[in-house]
Amino acid sequence: MNCPVCEGEMERKKVSYAIEEVKLGRFKADVCSSCGEVFFTEEASDDIDRKAKEAGLWGLEKKGKIGYSGNSLVVRIPKKVAEFMKLKSSTEILIKPEGRKRLVIEVE
Ligand SMILES: [Zn+2]
Repeated sequence: MNCPVCEGEMERKKVSYAIEEVKLGRFKADVCSSCGEVFFTEEASDDIDRKAKEAGLWGLEKKGKIGYSGNSLVVRIPKKVAEFMKLKSSTEILIKPEGRKRLVIEVE
């Protein structure tokens, strides 16, 4: 597999992961040898979720309000959630309404 960001060579490594400066441990990931992007394996992601729950770093949900910008509505993503999900300002997302009461945002 090549890096989806820059097509560089990927290397399987153990990478340490921390949320809010709480170290959760080292997890298996593919790391790009050219741009340094880290992609945790699915198994590692599950591990990280579990460790985060154990460390009380879950419950990242927050209340917010829809904002307005130009002709569109804007949803602010809290910093903690953004950091946890590794969202950046140009992260590609899929917005999916599930009925009238639930909006799902999937990271592509
Ligand atoms: Zn890369």
